[in-house]
Amino acid sequence: MRRLFVAGNWKMNLLQTSATGLAAQLAAAISAEIPAVEVAVCPPFPYLAAVGAALAGSGVSLGAQNASQEKPGAFTGEVAVEMLADIGCRWVILGHSERRQFYGETDELVSRKALAALAGGLDVILCVGESLSQRQAGQTETVLDAQLLGSLRGLTDAALRRVVIAYEPVWAIGTGVTATTEQAESAQKHLRNWLEKHYNPSVAQAMRILYGGSVKAQNAAALLAQPNVDGALVGGASLKIEDFLPIVQAAQMAKK
Ligand code: PEP
Repeated sequence: MRRLFVAGNWKMNLLQTSATGLAAQLAAAISAEIPAVEVAVCPPFPYLAAVGAALAGSGVSLGAQNASQEKPGAFTGEVAVEMLADIGCRWVILGHSERRQFYGETDELVSRKALAALAGGLDVILCVGESLSQRQAGQTETVLDAQLLGSLRGLTDAALRRVVIAYEPVWAIGTGVTATTEQAESAQKHLRNWLEKHYNPSVAQAMRILYGGSVKAQNAAALLAQPNVDGALVGGASLKIEDFLPIVQAAQMAKK
């Protein structure tokens, strides 16, 4: 039985007052005792500490949207894993398509970041997903295989138990176009099969595989009902309590 996981990726949105205000609303709504679902939010770096303080004692944990692969030192503009763990982060999102697309992050870099994050005490939300042209060319599974192979390089079975995979088709992110339940389930089943082939099958069975890409209150329940959809990584709909909470509630109702 995999515990469902709903994570909000706030991306480069909100300011201090709106970020802490949203965190306070989430803390009030999501108590520490919701055994069926795990919830996290990933605010921008400058607000992590303040959001973490607002979430204290609630059922919502804190994540960052990126981290350096380097140890603390002379890396201007970067943020070390140690710093994120130090201010209470539990999670870090790695390999998001916006990082791959706009900042040139490769699978090789993502794997170095994942190794650094896990060694430094953070659990990883690893994003993979194909572009529209790759899907149209019938390359979805090949692309996913290559991303997993490259991004998970060097990770042991034990390390993988602290990783959550987010299947995020690039064409569905921020577009309002959601993958159909069949598309999400087929890709996510494929990811689990790949994990089964390359790792201990018990690790593959325990792995939580989230779907991300225009998840909303209206489509969450159907997606979460799929056997290999173990939660959601939510962008736009995580920025307002009235949009995010129904997704968490849909996860609470999903039979798993
Ligand atoms: C995301 O950025 O991870 C995401 C899924 O965004 P959205 O929900 O806005 O499509």
